[in-house]
Amino acid sequence: MILPGATIGILGAGQLGRMLAVPARQLGYGVVVFGPEGDAPAAGLADHWVRASFEDEEAALRMAESCEVLTYEFENVPAETVRRLAQLRPVHPGAEVLAITQDRLTEHRFIQKLGIPTAPGAAVHHPSELPALMERLGSPARLKTARGGYDGGGQWRLLQPDDAPAVAFRNPPLLLEREVAFERELSVVVVRDTKGKIVPFPVFENQHREGILRCTRCPADIGPLLHARALEIARCLAEAMDLVGTLTVEMFQVGSELWVNELAPRVHNSGHLSIEACSVSQFEQHVRAICGLPLREVELRRPAAMVNLLGEEEHRRLRVAGVEEALRLPDTHLHIYGKGSVRKRRKMGHITALGDSTEQALERALCAAAPIRFVAA
Ligand code: AMP
Repeated sequence: MILPGATIGILGAGQLGRMLAVPARQLGYGVVVFGPEGDAPAAGLADHWVRASFEDEEAALRMAESCEVLTYEFENVPAETVRRLAQLRPVHPGAEVLAITQDRLTEHRFIQKLGIPTAPGAAVHHPSELPALMERLGSPARLKTARGGYDGGGQWRLLQPDDAPAVAFRNPPLLLEREVAFERELSVVVVRDTKGKIVPFPVFENQHREGILRCTRCPADIGPLLHARALEIARCLAEAMDLVGTLTVEMFQVGSELWVNELAPRVHNSGHLSIEACSVSQFEQHVRAICGLPLREVELRRPAAMVNLLGEEEHRRLRVAGVEEALRLPDTHLHIYGKGSVRKRRKMGHITALGDSTEQALERALCAAAPIRFVAA
């Protein structure tokens, strides 16, 4: 057990690191974050910020020496670096989990081997393969880079093979998937401790636009059978990976089936509402898991909804407008990540609202979000 007083190292210094630092500090841990120059929302809450690129293995090793345990909030840290760090200190989730989830093709194969469905897809190495593959998989299709894609980046919708831009093939192979006509998108966040105990959060229902999460609600509008199946899939994946820490499983509901879309070995945007709506937040539960502390049973206390606050235009220095109006609404909670600059579609904050129903919670969250703007300072 790693007890309060010890230091937790977080690879990545974004908003997820910031929200992890809050319960870590509350529990009495020191926090060191690692991330490149630039905006680092987690840095203000950490004892120390190691400013270095994720490719700088020496800096990562030095950081590890000052910590008792390490984790990451950003899954594009090289798995090889994590392997080296793990020789010095425990890193949760481990390098193998990272290696599987960093590559969409490896991830797809891993999921399918467990008998869990994904969208029909195939590896593609060269644009010349697209016509035959699209013929087989159907159109429209989604072409996705195997590595490094994020928030809809590195992903193209193809109506025909010619729609694939040349830049897409800079880092082959890619994954080509049939576009799924899903009923809804769901996610399950599960946390597994060092002894193998697994505690899932309730299923979250998500809405994306242009590949980016816009809002989440909980409970999801699904029956008990699908709910149980979603949790079972997440448990099965966490066990198969021998996970310690948090895994997020994004799924499509297709009729009465669930197809896994993507895995993230970390706390997740769709789990933010757990801060106010659940008996324990995903962030505290993750800290508990990686430190060997007991996990808490998760209960949803009230129906909840989360709306992301995204940047609309670019400003190098910004001010947040509309805060006063947003804060007047009952049962709403505003989170601003403290980023120093804004770009279109950048995640700047979020609002969680609670209500007597998910509809009421969502309405409150949308009302509170409406006046918020990230404008030039
Ligand atoms: P991803 O980066 O794979 O999570 O994709 C981001 C979002 O794009 C998803 O949450 C979906 O809304 C959409 N998307 C991705 N892949 C597919 C697919 N095969 N069919 C339909 N929508 C998809």
